[in-house]
Amino acid sequence: MTNTQQIMDETEQYVLHTYNRFPVAFERGEGVRLYDVEGKEYLDFGAGIAVFALGYGNRAYNDALKAQIDRLVHTSNLFYHTPLRDAARKVIGHTGMSKVFFTNSGAEAIEGAIKAARKYAFLKDGSNDHEIIAMNQSFHGRTIGALSVTGNPHYQDPFRPLMGGVKFANFNDFDSVMAQVSDKTCAILLETVQGEGGIYPADPEFLKAVRRLCDERGILLILDEIQCGMGRTGAWFACDHYGVRPDIMTLAKALGCGIPVGAFVLNEKAAAMSLAAGDHGTTYGGNPLACAAVSAVFDQFDREKIVEHVQELTPCLEEKLDALVEKYDFLTQRRGMGFMQGLVVEGRQAGEIVKAAIGNGLVILSAGSNVLRLVPPLIITEDDIDEMIQKLEEVL
Ligand SMILES: *Cc1c(COP(=O)(O)O)cnc(C)c1O
Repeated sequence: MTNTQQIMDETEQYVLHTYNRFPVAFERGEGVRLYDVEGKEYLDFGAGIAVFALGYGNRAYNDALKAQIDRLVHTSNLFYHTPLRDAARKVIGHTGMSKVFFTNSGAEAIEGAIKAARKYAFLKDGSNDHEIIAMNQSFHGRTIGALSVTGNPHYQDPFRPLMGGVKFANFNDFDSVMAQVSDKTCAILLETVQGEGGIYPADPEFLKAVRRLCDERGILLILDEIQCGMGRTGAWFACDHYGVRPDIMTLAKALGCGIPVGAFVLNEKAAAMSLAAGDHGTTYGGNPLACAAVSAVFDQFDREKIVEHVQELTPCLEEKLDALVEKYDFLTQRRGMGFMQGLVVEGRQAGEIVKAAIGNGLVILSAGSNVLRLVPPLIITEDDIDEMIQKLEEVL
């Protein structure tokens, strides 16, 4: 029995089977490459689901975490600590928002955003029947609150009854949003670029119209930037491309580059009138280790000019993916922004292509059943892109 097979068998013996995992056990990473326990090398265009933006083994990031582990890992939120101050200052500095709350995951960031929006509306009119408008084909996480705003019956149906007060509209269809708006609407929630749903960027006109609607009706706009934020689209946050600012922004994935940390970030208006002392909490959220990771990520992004790098290399990636769409009949479209790209597959299962690519030493992901998703570490070079195209073509 191979080492991999043994790890697989013993893992499945003990771990609840909620994932159909690929038959690979990774052992270590270096830059944009992963190595499995058999020593096989993989080019990584998945980044642990759009997480490991800095690439594996970033020296300064690793050193910052090691130093923090030796100093202090955890204190609870009953006390102050400098990593929290520093990480918060960097989040606020880069988002231009007003206040941040650190969580342990993306789903928890969504939970917090929902609570903040409900409290905001409650303080305004004292009523308890507010509604949130979310989008069909969205993804916001697997906890009951986050699942309740995830417009995907496949994820939702076994877990009903879900949280109430949620209505769904169609992404990029402003009329369908208007059809759901009422005096009870407290927030409109959407991903600036839908990720799991199939890599759909918001139409500029749609996003601007939703922002205007929110301003006119006193509704909070919540933008989920958990996947598309943190430089992935070639701007610090995808909404920067649109000139649209949310009232609440959610972050996670690349925020800690692998240390579990998320955040919801509020503008002055939302922060001034929402969650107050005693309204929300978390034992781990924003602990010293998580905050050291956040600080190290922002520092490395600034030092290595990661966002500029994504901007510079995006035309190259898009051009080469467009060439694949030209060449293969079953690839019908490229969608995406920056290093968050999807190739639409017709007549074949995206999952089968992903499996074959991984077998060929290239990690890519799918989104839905018919989209190949490319979300590489943000440090890839033109040579890495060429190698990705070559490995992908070998399986296409
Ligand atoms: C991954 C993701 C989430 C959920 O994050 P978790 O850390 O898995 O809970 C929420 N929203 C978007 C857009 C995501 O991509």
